[in-house]
Amino acid sequence: MLRITIWNEYRHEKIHPDVQAVYPDGIHAVIAEALCKDESLSVRVATLDEPEHGLTDEVLEQTDVLMWWGHMAHDEVQDAVVNRVHQRVLGGMGLVVLHSGHFSKVFKKLMGTSCDLHWREAGELERIWTVNPAHPIAQGLPPFFEIPEVEMYGEYFDVPEPDSLVFISWFEGGEVFRSGLCYHRGQGKIFYFRPGHETYPIYYHAHVQHVLRNAVHWCAPTSNPALHFGHVPQFTHQKGDA
Ligand code: ZN
Repeated sequence: MLRITIWNEYRHEKIHPDVQAVYPDGIHAVIAEALCKDESLSVRVATLDEPEHGLTDEVLEQTDVLMWWGHMAHDEVQDAVVNRVHQRVLGGMGLVVLHSGHFSKVFKKLMGTSCDLHWREAGELERIWTVNPAHPIAQGLPPFFEIPEVEMYGEYFDVPEPDSLVFISWFEGGEVFRSGLCYHRGQGKIFYFRPGHETYPIYYHAHVQHVLRNAVHWCAPTSNPALHFGHVPQFTHQKGDA
């Protein structure tokens, strides 16, 4: 079983009636239900207001892939927890960063750039194009799919050049956005996926759910041992050796 932890800030859903109407039990609950359709995944959730934000050493040790949704309270995430997640990613834990998670402390730390972008909340149509059909995250998806009402994110998106680009979004207002990005950091794999604003029912969308399931599999850790660095003796080679 691949062990997934879905982390949600879980604040909008508690205080904004328009968000409660879409996600009465929290965004994490809908994503958990989507991932549980894949019987090879074991899914738990964690939220900001739990002790250590629900991301203790023990939880992270038992997590193969962490999924991250945050928006209004990025600054409240303790640096100690950010550093712990960062170290786990470098050590091989996968990380799927969703939508406004582009501004999370941990994503910015892993990217090393501002991770800023343009945005507009106007209920526009988004058409998501698969631009890397051979990529495992595109497995089973059509050439494009549409989400009828979204918040627009526009380029330039200030992130490093990705190792793979899987999706590009077009919006009816005219902008485009690199909406599915793959990175490697240390032994860990990171996937950023754009869709998911809190006032629209985007995580109920069948193709969005399909991408999330594919993404956690792609981000799964390899079973390689921990890396070691530093001084090593010269390889010995004697004459006569094969
Ligand atoms: Zn948003």
